[in-house]
Amino acid sequence: MASRLLRIGLIPGDGIGKEVIPAGRRVLEALPSSLGLKFEFTDLKAGFETFEKTGAALPDKTVEVLKSDCDGALFGAVSSPSKAVKGYSSPIVALRKKLDLYANVRPVKSVGTARTPIDMVIVRENTEDLYVKEERTFDAADGSGKVAEAIKRISERASYRIATMAGNIAVRRQRIRELSPHQKFVHSSPLVTITHKSNVLSQTDGLFRSTARAALADLEAAGTVAVEEQIVDSMVYKLFRQPEAYDVIVAPNLYGDILSDGAAALVGSLGLVPSANVGEKFAIGEPCHGSAPDIMGQNIANPIATLRSTALMLEFLGEDAAAARIYAAVDANLEEARLLSPDLGGTAKTDEVVEDILRRL
Ligand code: ATP
Ligand code: MG
Repeated sequence: MASRLLRIGLIPGDGIGKEVIPAGRRVLEALPSSLGLKFEFTDLKAGFETFEKTGAALPDKTVEVLKSDCDGALFGAVSSPSKAVKGYSSPIVALRKKLDLYANVRPVKSVGTARTPIDMVIVRENTEDLYVKEERTFDAADGSGKVAEAIKRISERASYRIATMAGNIAVRRQRIRELSPHQKFVHSSPLVTITHKSNVLSQTDGLFRSTARAALADLEAAGTVAVEEQIVDSMVYKLFRQPEAYDVIVAPNLYGDILSDGAAALVGSLGLVPSANVGEKFAIGEPCHGSAPDIMGQNIANPIATLRSTALMLEFLGEDAAAARIYAAVDANLEEARLLSPDLGGTAKTDEVVEDILRRL
């Protein structure tokens, strides 16, 4: 079988990013050769330490190499300075813009033994909504003080492509379920939930809602994916009361931001939750946690968020079988619960968790 070469940029960033990104590389290198994949890695710089050394948090070279020589990337974490530092801004936000990574995808899955089984993916639009940052402050006409306002921009184009992506993810999750028959899944069939507040914001959220409906209409008509809608406030209530009701959630930027942090809290450690920043032709896997300065340098960071982010990146590069292998190996480690990192109540070192997962591949 001819093998496919994937060129992966590695951007460890700061803090525990330096300890977990090498784990992502190791898991890719350890994939069985029967999957027909070969990897080539390039180490790239970004983050606060890079900023202090070079004056740029995201060197031009990093962006150029990603654009011209990479198929995907893994991004660790960058420290955010406690006070605003002149000239410093988040490199991952800049990368999303420069590579047009318009979707933030966050799977949330509970540990095997959890009382409430959770297995959902939140697909958040990443380019517009209130985050276009067009704000202004002016004096109230009646002299009663200041008034501030912000633009909430929703476009048909962005809503259509994010809902299309959510539909594709629902279809792909079904394929991964079928590739991992021994795994337990909360959902047996694909479901997309469109989140909005169009009862109040009839134009902006109304456009999001109707466009998402249109984007998913074919999949729904074919019976491939079920589609439902949920008003965001009742969605939060249900997300906490009945998280097992969700499979794929699609939301505009702000609601997606809030829902994805809330959902992550349902499954315990930040060290478990992966994400991916995805565009038309590129995907960056990124663990949801930050640089965790309180535990850095001790070899105790949980590598699972990064390993799952690595699998998620592979999904968006079209390699479902390889992704399913990694997910299954991680789940097996969690289910056996013998080698767990301290955030999950265990005593295993980062390396020991990684090696246990590599053995299960
Ligand atoms: P940053 O400014 O980079 O976001 P932070 O201080 O907010 O750093 P986070 O990385 O967001 O730290 O982590 C919040 C808490 O969760 C910390 O106590 C951290 O130790 C813990 N934590 C985060 N990631 C992991 C991980 N992979 N394994 C174990 N604990 C983690
Ligand atoms: Mg943080």
